[in-house]
Amino acid sequence: MNKVDFIIVGQGLAGTLLAYDLISNNKKILIIDKHLKASSSKVAAGMINPVAMKRCSPAFMADHYLPNALKVYRDLELKLNSKILYLKPILKLFANEDIQNTWKVKYSNDDMDKYISSFSKSNEFSFLKNSFGGAVVEPSAHLDVSLFLNISREYFTKLNLLKEEIFSFEDFDHINCSYRGDIADKIIFCEGHRLQNNPFFNYLPMSPTKGEIMRIKIPSLKNFNKMISKGIYMIPVKDYEYVVGATYNREDLSDKVTQEGRSFLISKLDSILDVDFEVLSISAGVRPNVKDRRPLIGVHPEFSKLYVFNGLGSRGVLQGPTLSQELMSCLFSNHLIGNKIKNYNNINRFD
Ligand SMILES: Cc1cc2nc3c(=O)[nH]c(=O)nc-3n(C[C@H](O)[C@H](O)[C@H](O)COP(=O)(O)OP(=O)(O)OC[C@H]3O[C@@H](n4cnc5c(N)ncnc54)[C@H](O)[C@@H]3O)c2cc1C
Repeated sequence: MNKVDFIIVGQGLAGTLLAYDLISNNKKILIIDKHLKASSSKVAAGMINPVAMKRCSPAFMADHYLPNALKVYRDLELKLNSKILYLKPILKLFANEDIQNTWKVKYSNDDMDKYISSFSKSNEFSFLKNSFGGAVVEPSAHLDVSLFLNISREYFTKLNLLKEEIFSFEDFDHINCSYRGDIADKIIFCEGHRLQNNPFFNYLPMSPTKGEIMRIKIPSLKNFNKMISKGIYMIPVKDYEYVVGATYNREDLSDKVTQEGRSFLISKLDSILDVDFEVLSISAGVRPNVKDRRPLIGVHPEFSKLYVFNGLGSRGVLQGPTLSQELMSCLFSNHLIGNKIKNYNNINRFD
């Protein structure tokens, strides 16, 4: 048997972040991942947004997650010698006067002044239909998730840490934590929405949500330097090219793109843009959302070698780095589990 410290199942954002944390603590790991359809990270827009736009308030624990996320991705850029993180403000467009007023009031009275750098005037940008102005939200950023995962996969493969195969529970001995010739102290399942097929953790209340996202070209707009938010978001990714997302669908959990998804995004975009655009491509993935909208982290209630790191939803890119570190410190010392994983993230809330 080949002995490792940890087996990680799934190399989406969760598995990738955890793998780096364990490697940098000199742990021997094995990652098992097969590119499966409808995975979330592969299509994720990668927006790091510290503000709950509808409520105009800081997102849950944004102050805690944001600085660490930016630091972790910057450190990984250095390690991987690749540009993956782009600091970019978000231009939140107001849909009407009420929303405009709410944002101005919250800016003056609430904790929002640290996330709003300025307000923009109505019709300030000629390519936008925008009668009520907007707020510039920062610090915020865009992570090129797909590039991050691809270069990470190359990195893990070069170090001989990754097996490209489907993890089959029939070959898994959960008492000894062994799998097809490999034996580990612990195994961490990071399978995204496929956690529902995991016989040890499928009791957790997931609420997977399909999202469709499209890439467009705006021939008259070379490189707008802000991400735009108004019900949907539009992120500049390349000269003249923008990523636009996203839809939410709980019924259809396939990776098929739909006419409804396309029409929804185009109609939203039509209501924001005053210039022509063309759709280059559309893709779909399934977010591993949870009913109570909190991550799923922790140890199996009965089998102490089995862990889960999942439930990263629409703010996974923001929260992932800190959550991975919190999980890691528990992997190293069992008795701290309740203390290190905050109880709103710990799966023991469902015991
Ligand atoms: C359209 C869309 C837009 C999004 N935009 C944003 C955004 O702007 N900002 C943000 O923070 N979040 C966004 N998200 C959410 C983000 O994608 C998630 O927070 C995060 O990527 C989830 O990562 P994960 O590793 O948990 O799951 P996944 O990315 O689904 O990864 C799971 C991995 O496990 C593998 N796997 C599963 N089962 C097995 C098995 N049995 N054997 C082998 N391999 C297996 C899968 O192939 C996959 O590689 C978006 C999601 C979607 C769908």
